[in-house]
Amino acid sequence: MKTGQINVQTENIFPIIKKFLYSDHEIFLRELVSNAVDASQKLKVLATNGEFKGEIGELKVEVLLDREAKTITIRDRGIGMTEEEIDKYINQIAFSGAEEFVNQYKGKEGAEQIIGHFGLGFYSAFMVAEKVQIQTLSRLEGAKAVQWESNGSPEFTIKEIEKAERGTDIILFLNEDALEFNDKPRIQGILSKYCKFLPIPVFFGTKTEYIDSPDGEKDDKGNLKRVAIEVPNQVNNVKPAWTVSPSSLSEEDYQSFYRELYPSTFEAPLFNIHLNVDYPFNLTGILYFPKIKENVEVQRNKINLYSNQVFITDSVEEIVPEFLTLLHGVIDSPDIPLNVSRSYLQSDSNVKKISAHITKKVADKLAEMFNKDRKDFEEKWNDLYIFVQYGMLSDEKFAEKAKSFALLKNTSGEYFTMEEYLEKIKTNQTNKSEETIILYTSDAEGQFSYVKQATDRAYDVIVLEGPLASHWIQKLEQSNEKVRFSRVDSDSLEKLIDKGEEIPSKLSATEEEKLKPLFEGVVDKEKFTIQLASMPEQDAPIIITQPEFIRRMMEQQRMGGGGFYGAFPEMYQLVVNGNHPVISKVLKMKNARQQVTVKQLVDLAMLSQGLLKGEALTEFIQRSVSGMVES
Ligand code: ADP
Repeated sequence: MKTGQINVQTENIFPIIKKFLYSDHEIFLRELVSNAVDASQKLKVLATNGEFKGEIGELKVEVLLDREAKTITIRDRGIGMTEEEIDKYINQIAFSGAEEFVNQYKGKEGAEQIIGHFGLGFYSAFMVAEKVQIQTLSRLEGAKAVQWESNGSPEFTIKEIEKAERGTDIILFLNEDALEFNDKPRIQGILSKYCKFLPIPVFFGTKTEYIDSPDGEKDDKGNLKRVAIEVPNQVNNVKPAWTVSPSSLSEEDYQSFYRELYPSTFEAPLFNIHLNVDYPFNLTGILYFPKIKENVEVQRNKINLYSNQVFITDSVEEIVPEFLTLLHGVIDSPDIPLNVSRSYLQSDSNVKKISAHITKKVADKLAEMFNKDRKDFEEKWNDLYIFVQYGMLSDEKFAEKAKSFALLKNTSGEYFTMEEYLEKIKTNQTNKSEETIILYTSDAEGQFSYVKQATDRAYDVIVLEGPLASHWIQKLEQSNEKVRFSRVDSDSLEKLIDKGEEIPSKLSATEEEKLKPLFEGVVDKEKFTIQLASMPEQDAPIIITQPEFIRRMMEQQRMGGGGFYGAFPEMYQLVVNGNHPVISKVLKMKNARQQVTVKQLVDLAMLSQGLLKGEALTEFIQRSVSGMVES
C-alpha cells in the first residue's frame, strides 16, 4: 500500500465545498453516474477505433445502496483506470478542478445558484461521503486492479486489490449528516430527476412485474395465474425521442414522449417542434406547444435543459426569451456553459445564438402551419393567441414574422391577418382624418347592445380577449400607421368613426340646454360626464361609454406594468341621444314623472353596460314593478 499527498494548494477544500454546495448536495449522484456513463461510452469509442479488442459485454451502470453499511456504490463496466490514470485523472485533474472551482467562487454572492449547474465531477462525492473508495480494473490487457481511498483531505492511499470485472466501483461511505441519502426512495428520486435519459442503461434495485405463471398454474376459473417477479429496475430511457431523427418519429411517438416527460399532465400538447442543429452550435430538443390558458404563470418553467442527455435544470429563463418559457419540452445542448453565473449566461454568445435560433424556429413553425392548413391553424388560434401576442410584445424579430400569421377574429367567427383585415374595413371604417378604426369587443355577450349598434351600421367588430389584449393592440397601433383600436363602448359610434356627416338634431337649442341638468341630477358627478349627441333615432336613448384611453390604462395597471402608476379613477360618459323619441317626450313631462323616467332611462343604460348592481339594481326593479302597477 502507498500513501500520497494530492497536489493542491488549499489545505482542505472539503469544508469549503461542502458549505457552497449545501443547497444542492444531491447532484453528487448525477456527477458520478455521468462519469460512469462517460467511461462506458469511451469504451465503445475505443472498440470502434480498434483500440480495444476485448469483449465489451453488457455496458450498464448500477447504483447499489447498502443501508446497513451506509454506503452507495456506483458501478460501471467502462474503461476503468490504471494506477497511473488514477494519479493523473483523480489526484491531479479531479482535485485541481475542484480547487479551481473553490478559488473562483469563494465568497462570491449567488454562487449557490450556479452550483447545481456546475459539474464538480468526481469531487462532489465528498459532499456526502466521509470516505470515498475507487475500486477499478482498467481495460488494458494485464492491468492490475487498484483501490484508491481518501477522506477528502489531500491525503490518499492506493493499493492493489482483487477485482475480476473490468470497470470502476465508486464507493461512498455516507457522512453522518448525509444520511438522508441512505434511503431508497430518495436515491430513486434523484436518479429519475437527473438520469432519466442517459444513453447507457442505469439500474437501481429491482421492481415487481407480473407475468403469466411460468409453471402453467391456473386459477379457479382455469385462467393462467399471474405471478409477481422481481426484475432489475432500469431508471432510464437510453434513446429519448429528441435524440432520434425526426423522420423516424410518428405523431404518436411525440405524444408518448410528452407523457414520459410530464406523467402528471393530462392535457395533450397542440403540436411540437423538433430542434436539430449541429452548426454553428449543437442543439437538439423537442418543444411542445401546450394550450395556453389565461393564467400563464402556472404553466411556466416546464422546459428541461439537458447537456448530452444529463439533466441540468428546469429553469431556462436565461437561455430562452421569456415568452418561450411558456412552451414545454426539452432542449439539449453541450454548448450552453453551465459553470457560469446566470447574468453571464445571457451575454454568452452561444446562448444568444441558441436563443435566436429557437425563436426563429418557433416563428417558422407557426408560419408553416398557417400556410399549410389555415383552417386548422384558425381552430388552434384560441389556444395559441396568448403565446403569439406575448412573443410579439417581447421580441421584435418574432413580431416581424408573426405579422403573417397573427390573427384577428371578428364577431361572426371569421379570421383575418392584420393586412387582410385593414383591406376589408378600409373603405367603410376610415374617418375624416383618414384613420382606420378597428372596433373591438372584449366580451361579445356582455357588450352585445354596443356590438349590435355597430353591426347595424355595417361596421365590423373583432373579438379581443386575454390578459395581453390592451398591450397587444397598442403594439399593433405603433406598427400600423393611421390605425386605431376602439372598443365598441368607448364612445358613440358617430364619434368613434367620425366621417364628418352630422345627423341633424331634432331638439332646439333651448331643449338641449334643459336636458343636461336633468341627467346630472341622477348620476354620480365624480364618475360621469354628460354628453349630448345626435344619433340615429333607432339607437338607444342613452348609452354609457368609457373612453378608450382611460380603460386601457386601467387594464394595464391591473396587469402590472404599462408604465402608468397611481390609481386611475373610474370614469364614464353618459351619452344622451337627443334624436330618440323618448327624449323629446321626457322634456314635456311633469316634474315627478320626468324624474322617475330619467332615472329609469339611466338605469337601463347602466344595466346594459353591466354597471347596475346591489342596492341600485334592487331599486330599479322595485321602481319598474311599481310603474307597472300604476299604469
Ligand atoms: P470530468 O468528468 O469533468 O473530467 P471528474 O472530476 O468527474 O471530471 O473526473 C476526472 C476524471 O476521472 C475523468 O475525466 C475521468 O478520466 C476519470 N474518471 C472519473 N470517473 C471515472 C470512471 N467511473 N471510470 C473511469 N474514469 C473515471
